[in-house]
Amino acid sequence: MEYDTNKPTVWAKKGPDRRLFFFAKEVSCQVTEGWVHSLESMGLVDGPGIRTVVFLQGCALRCQYCHNPDTWQRESTPAQPMTPAQLLRRLERFRPYYGEQGGVTFSGGEPLLQPDFLRESLKLCRRAGIHTCLDTAGRGLGDYGEILAYTDLVLLDVKHYTSEGFRQVTGGDMEPFLRFVEAVRQAKVPLWVRHVVVPGLTDGEEHLEGLEEYLRTLPRVERVELLPYHTLGVHKYEALGIPYPLEGVSAMEKEVLRPWEDRLNRHCTQGLDKERKRKDEH
Ligand code: SF4
Repeated sequence: MEYDTNKPTVWAKKGPDRRLFFFAKEVSCQVTEGWVHSLESMGLVDGPGIRTVVFLQGCALRCQYCHNPDTWQRESTPAQPMTPAQLLRRLERFRPYYGEQGGVTFSGGEPLLQPDFLRESLKLCRRAGIHTCLDTAGRGLGDYGEILAYTDLVLLDVKHYTSEGFRQVTGGDMEPFLRFVEAVRQAKVPLWVRHVVVPGLTDGEEHLEGLEEYLRTLPRVERVELLPYHTLGVHKYEALGIPYPLEGVSAMEKEVLRPWEDRLNRHCTQGLDKERKRKDEH
């Protein structure tokens, strides 16, 4: 289905005297361009089911372990400007793969840094019946309530649970993240929490116990994922001529984190995702 954002939607209904009444409603979608880094058509790890992942360009944070430094600058190659309607046309091609659970995930960079494009794109997806996920570190711009109104699931990247730790990991202030979390609480959107575990930075019993305590305060957490630090993005730093902050730190195995991930899922989730988990296991 395609939406012409310049034309009103018109439909007809029969009245009691069998006359036809016509109704018109403006499609309140502004034509606003976004900077899209790339699309991944068969994403399996960024939300439920098979998903198209839309990577938006631009990020205000500088995480020490970031493996996508090529998404930091908003208007730079290989990003392409695109309207929400153009994006929806691309997504429609992949719709047969989505099945019952899949859909689209907006990721980055930081998708919240392009709030108008994000909101309008989410709105079009919702109208087209496509499940919407927002993969974010919660550090953006705009009216989060308007964006979350069209978001089915938030994948929240929790960088750290203290201000000092947050600054050490990201180079940024934690307050905007807390403001986003409050908006999620108000909007009652379910959360999948993700946390990157880096040796010497965000690992160890004490750190993970602190994380557990913090996650217990978050609303509607359905799932917790611990992501082991990896070094797959290091070559991008070399290509961009940026010094790599975690030079010499070894990658981790996922298996090492499994007991802690299980514990966090037992203690910090609220059982809202039982049906989805059951389907995943079969
Ligand atoms: S928030 Fe994501 S894109 Fe931005 S610096 Fe951190 S890891 Fe990289």
